[in-house]
Amino acid sequence: MSEQVPFTETDERVALRRAVAKLAGGYGREYFTRQARSGGKTTELWLEIAKHGYLGVNIPEEYGGGGGGIGDIAAVCEELAAQGCPLLMMVVSPAICGTVIARFGTEEQKQRWLPGIADGTQTMAFAITEPDAGTNSHNITTTARRETGSGEPGWVLNGRKIYISGVDEAAHVLVVARTEDARTGRLKPCLFVVPTDAAGFEYSPIPMEIVSPEQQFSVFIDDVRLPADALVGESDKADAGLVQLFAGLNPERIMAASFSTGLARYALDRAVAYVKEREVFGAPIGSHQGLAHPLAQSKIEIELARLMTQKAAALVDAGDDAAAGEAANMAKYAAAEAACDAVDRAVQAHGGNGITQEYGVAGLLVAARAGRIAPVSREMILNFVGMHSLGLPKSY
Ligand SMILES: Cc1cc2nc3c(=O)[nH]c(=O)nc-3n(C[C@H](O)[C@H](O)[C@H](O)COP(=O)(O)OP(=O)(O)OC[C@H]3O[C@@H](n4cnc5c(N)ncnc54)[C@H](O)[C@@H]3O)c2cc1C
Repeated sequence: MSEQVPFTETDERVALRRAVAKLAGGYGREYFTRQARSGGKTTELWLEIAKHGYLGVNIPEEYGGGGGGIGDIAAVCEELAAQGCPLLMMVVSPAICGTVIARFGTEEQKQRWLPGIADGTQTMAFAITEPDAGTNSHNITTTARRETGSGEPGWVLNGRKIYISGVDEAAHVLVVARTEDARTGRLKPCLFVVPTDAAGFEYSPIPMEIVSPEQQFSVFIDDVRLPADALVGESDKADAGLVQLFAGLNPERIMAASFSTGLARYALDRAVAYVKEREVFGAPIGSHQGLAHPLAQSKIEIELARLMTQKAAALVDAGDDAAAGEAANMAKYAAAEAACDAVDRAVQAHGGNGITQEYGVAGLLVAARAGRIAPVSREMILNFVGMHSLGLPKSY
């Protein structure tokens, strides 16, 4: 193996990217949009990624995964998107839920939930957002009450969540709730694994404008009874739930960034191929700087975002969560901006064809735009950088 040059990926990572790109290329954008427009799912693709060990690449080996890091699962997510198959549930199931359970679950919980996340048969959704709390997750009101009656001890969960991705494809949802601290009586966050078929757990799809087989849902949690061990790890103690939540945030941002850079690469590839072929004034339109320069700008912006994403992933994988926080936020911001611009430029480069279903470029607009809103909005990242990187006063 050649010696690794700083700022390049390992041979193993490069090989992983190549293998995923090949697999996803066999499905491609046409498959993805066909499934989306017909109300179908991407289950075959999901299970095939899993079968090759790519879905669980970051899950510890002893629980059925590949023993890799966030950088590996982020590479898988990016390569899928770069082939026109951006899978949002990769952000949620292996990266957020997988990380939180692998780091904080009890031994029994890891054995119960991680193998199914890795092999794709027990996908786990993640629910924090609430209609009345929105970005301000300190205001969530979903509550877990301890059940101490004559029966088995457990929890009773009540609340409402919104925009939760993939609930219909998930076996469980990792729900962020609040519970009363036994000592201080104060409400603190706790994470619960809730089966999607639990009595009192209902969900309904939110019609979205995104061209994707993956959907978002309103979730209604009414007196859902859970066993005592539905609570992840030791969240019962001190601020454990908060620590767990924070451990999921950096992976979430890194994955969202990879989703965006992959989408941006796909759009740019499409645009470049088109402007090389299409002739209007007797030469390929790509020979005009009015088209070539914006595409070159996108190439630069995408590479910069990818580099920051890889840095953030390397920091997470090295265990430096604090430094990773800044890098992950910056990467997610840069990647979302790069994707919005790349898709917009790709539409423009295609002229009228850019907004036809046949070419499918405009169909990327909303997915790219969602990257500026979820999982954390660009404004909240700017707030973070203003406060933590620049030391400016908190503005809200
Ligand atoms: C496609 C998609 C998938 C999603 N999947 C999931 C999921 O699986 N699980 C989950 O829990 N959630 C999910 N979400 C929810 C997502 O995380 C939220 O939409 C996001 O956090 C923003 O919250 P909100 O929509 O309530 O916006 P709001 O909080 O209402 O914010 C509206 C606007 O105000 C701005 N704003 C608010 N406060 C401030 C401030 N202090 N300073 C400056 N600007 C501010 C925001 O940046 C935003 O632009 C998903 C959302 C989308 C669009």
